Amino acid sequence: MKLLLHTCCAPCSVYCVKTLRSENIEPTLFWYNPNIHPMNEYVLRRDCLKEYAKSRNLNLVIEDEYGLDEFVCNVNKNTMQNLSKRCETYCYPLRFRKVFEYAKANGFDTVSTTLLYSIYQKHDYIAKLMEELSKEYGINFLYRDFREGWREGQDEARAAGLYMQKYCGCVYSEEESTFARKNKALFKKLNLKPTNENARKLLEKV
Ligand code: SF4
Repeated sequence: MKLLLHTCCAPCSVYCVKTLRSENIEPTLFWYNPNIHPMNEYVLRRDCLKEYAKSRNLNLVIEDEYGLDEFVCNVNKNTMQNLSKRCETYCYPLRFRKVFEYAKANGFDTVSTTLLYSIYQKHDYIAKLMEELSKEYGINFLYRDFREGWREGQDEARAAGLYMQKYCGCVYSEEESTFARKNKALFKKLNLKPTNENARKLLEKV
């Protein structure tokens, strides 16, 4: 199997790489994340992944594209101002299509993503979209529920001194995460989980 693993950041790749290597699968990591803003954050996460890949002797492909303006314009266009739908309508398809295109052009027969590790991502939607793209591009999709190793992966990433981000990536997620962190009492009072989706609903009311 020649696997191209879309990689959102170093911490999320720790458990995925460990699991795959335990199955004798050697992934090539693929960085394409124009959803990460602002520039300092983008550089921090990208360079942390570079260092991590080097330290673990992993192949890494970098598609370097920082795109705040384009990302925000396209989110607005694709969501019709419904920001809670931005992951499904723009961000995931943008990134995953790039992975399949690169895989096809460069002789990879299988694709997967470290987003399947995060307990904060829309796991079922990601798996469904990857399946659809797999059929469209004629490239296998390797599904794993890497979330089972969430705690273990996070602990190992911290122990390795990797940069641990506080929000998903886009400016909207930064706003939601910061709002949720600063308004814990409000979420408790409303009996709401401090998720990005709930934070967005509250932000739209204020
Ligand atoms: S919350 Fe994360 S997955 Fe959703 S649009 Fe923002 S960066 Fe992309």
